[in-house]
Amino acid sequence: MRCDLPEPKKPETQTPVLPATSASFGRSIELPLRNFDMGNAHERRERVMELLETVGLKPDQAERYPHEFSGGQAQRLAIARALATRPEFLVLDEAVSALDVSVQAQIINLLIELQTRFGLTFLFIAHDLSVVHHMSTRIAVMFRGHVVELGRRDEIFGSPQHPHTKALLSSILPIDRPGTTPRLDHLLTGNDHDDLQGDATGCIYRHRCPFREPICALESPMLAPVGGEHHVACHVAHHSTADWLARIPARGAIPDGQHEGNEFNEGGPSHVVTP
Ligand code: SF4
Repeated sequence: MRCDLPEPKKPETQTPVLPATSASFGRSIELPLRNFDMGNAHERRERVMELLETVGLKPDQAERYPHEFSGGQAQRLAIARALATRPEFLVLDEAVSALDVSVQAQIINLLIELQTRFGLTFLFIAHDLSVVHHMSTRIAVMFRGHVVELGRRDEIFGSPQHPHTKALLSSILPIDRPGTTPRLDHLLTGNDHDDLQGDATGCIYRHRCPFREPICALESPMLAPVGGEHHVACHVAHHSTADWLARIPARGAIPDGQHEGNEFNEGGPSHVVTP
């Protein structure tokens, strides 16, 4: 039997429409001023022009939209916006990580210039160690949300004490790392599950640490001074470099079933891998 039901209607194709709330550069910079009820419309407009110039953008770019600009220009907009209310302290979370190296350099130079000009303090969050070295006066090294080492730049880069800091610094390419710093970057890829299990009882780093002692499974180390402004959260941070090097295991993951105890503390030949 034939059924003469009409063909189902095909859904109409719709052209995507950009959200009407997208704000122009100028409007975007002005918003914080409006939020904090700063100045009248004319004064806010003047301030927007001043901020555009401060971050190296042209006043006639105020009416354009973020999607019309490069990553570097968009980052300048973000900086202008952050400066709008004349803050003293800025949190810069991975502020240059998404940019090309040459644009990174421009933005970093801009930030340093603005810091000097306006007496700003930055909390600069980054994974790129060369950027950290360039930008920082004091550095806090973190592992799974815990500060494991804290100190001045020369203390952290010149005399790292925590195994995680040593592993991070050893991951820098040899061209940036004159000398014969041993490679420890294999410690950067540990077992996430084990790391998180370690939270409750002992040192959070113990499951990937070749230097651990029995106490590391029992007590979580507190940040303690080791000289100058340098602080480290490690039970054995006072060991000499020679001691540390003698305990470094071969490159590669710590073998399964060897996550407890101090099997790496038995002495014997070191397996230092140098570049
Ligand atoms: S406290 Fe122990 S496990 Fe933690 S980093 Fe220091 S030596 Fe390694």
